[in-house]
Amino acid sequence: MINGKSIIIFGPPGAGKGTQSGLISTMTGKPQVSTGDMLRDAVADDSDVGREAKSYMDKGLLVPDEIILQLIKIRLSRDDAKSGLLFDGFPRTIPQAIALETLTDVSMVISLVVEDDEIVSRITGRRTDPETGEIYHLEYKPAPQHIRDRLLQRDDDTEDTVRNRLSTFHKQTAPLSDFYRDKGILFEVNGSGEIKQVSSSIEAIIEAKTGD
Ligand code: AMP
Repeated sequence: MINGKSIIIFGPPGAGKGTQSGLISTMTGKPQVSTGDMLRDAVADDSDVGREAKSYMDKGLLVPDEIILQLIKIRLSRDDAKSGLLFDGFPRTIPQAIALETLTDVSMVISLVVEDDEIVSRITGRRTDPETGEIYHLEYKPAPQHIRDRLLQRDDDTEDTVRNRLSTFHKQTAPLSDFYRDKGILFEVNGSGEIKQVSSSIEAIIEAKTGD
């Protein structure tokens, strides 16, 4: 049963978590919560949290657990969180996962598996349309010609920072696979195929689980 419970989309940076979240959110009705987006909003607002977070994000390091958990607690207290949320980019450390257990039930963790080299090429070519929030890729998902001039690259999407983010992922976040595998709720998906192919695999997993 996934009603009333939260879902996690898990994987290295650039694995397609944000892209696939739309589908999962539509299928399950659970609002997507991206801690990366929340932090970028805080940075754009130039708030105290934003200024502190930016110093970690620019280096490809994780923002301290206390800051992240504070944001998550506030988000979980909103009315639309009652039927569970879809977490994208959270949890990223074992202490965050342990804290989450006290805040909401997690029914499934969908893990996108993608090799490091593919990630570097995906992330360095990633561009966002600031007007719609749509994410494009210079090679794999080119934007329409007339909006190309306005596309932006995230500050932390440069090659050096991506390598640091990947190393952070392997050290601090990857161990969460075992944490959730041991609980019997980890579902691995090959994330290196076409977007539609990955979506179909995720859809099949969610349908099977909804019928439980
Ligand atoms: P993302 O958009 O998910 O790739 O996140 C961008 C950056 O925000 C990461 O490289 C981290 O610096 C920070 N961040 C996002 N989510 C978390 C989290 N759950 N724990 C710690 N840092 C995070």
